Amino acid sequence: MALLEVKDLKVRVEEREILHGLSLTVNEGEVHAIMGPNGSGKSTLSHVIAGKPGYEVTDGQILFKGEDLLEMEPDERAAKGVFLAFQYPVEIPGVATMTFLRTALNAQRKARGESEYSTPDFLKKVREVSKSLNIPQDMLKRGVNVGFSGGEKKRNEVLQMALFEPSLCILDEMDSGLDIDALRIAADGVNALRSPGRAMVVITHYQRLLNYIVPDFVHVMSKGRVVKSGGKDLALELEASGYTQFEDAA
Ligand code: ADP
Ligand code: MG
Ligand code: MG
Repeated sequence: MALLEVKDLKVRVEEREILHGLSLTVNEGEVHAIMGPNGSGKSTLSHVIAGKPGYEVTDGQILFKGEDLLEMEPDERAAKGVFLAFQYPVEIPGVATMTFLRTALNAQRKARGESEYSTPDFLKKVREVSKSLNIPQDMLKRGVNVGFSGGEKKRNEVLQMALFEPSLCILDEMDSGLDIDALRIAADGVNALRSPGRAMVVITHYQRLLNYIVPDFVHVMSKGRVVKSGGKDLALELEASGYTQFEDAA
């Protein structure tokens, strides 16, 4: 059984159809890249998978581990193992990163029917994971993403991902606004989380990120459809030839 199966998905936002019958199959352990120009519907796809409100699914299906994902609330999806790292992580002033992580992690454990972490257990876990990702402890004391650099925000997303141990990670343009050093650090963090039981969907406009996170499969989106799929070399082809060749296909 596929981990994620998107079948002929049609999605509307404010009466306008954005995704026009999109299909995608992701198996455990695979890393898929989704590339495409601005406005092709990449973020829409990730938001619909995560359950962000405001999208109307008019046709098609999304199955996760064989279950109908569209029937589940966003927190239920997260508890089942879906994690979305946002293109623009939100700032939450007044809530320390540590507190946020603990609340979110315990809510998820509860939803999974697991017991909450005790304070010492949580601290031990978060220290261990942040250390492995080279995240300084003082970052955890600051308000969530408040005053964080672009690179720190992405590292914070990767930290959440590591703590939540999802089986499907969707990374929406994690390269946007990052310089090359920050990109490398964030990508190293993601690579450290690659495992046979976990799949990743890496959304990006540029080929550059895929030099660091090397995908097994590449899909090109244009105007709300997947117009081409291939191996990692497809990303290199795109870098050379651009997206305009797909405009007619869409
Ligand atoms: P991408 O992530 O590939 O840049 P998006 O999924 O963000 O593309 O957007 C796809 C299309 O849907 C664009 O034309 C965008 O203007 C439109 N769209 C996305 N979200 C909304 C929204 N909340 N309201 C209206 N239009 C939207
Ligand atoms: Mg965009
Ligand atoms: Mg986007």
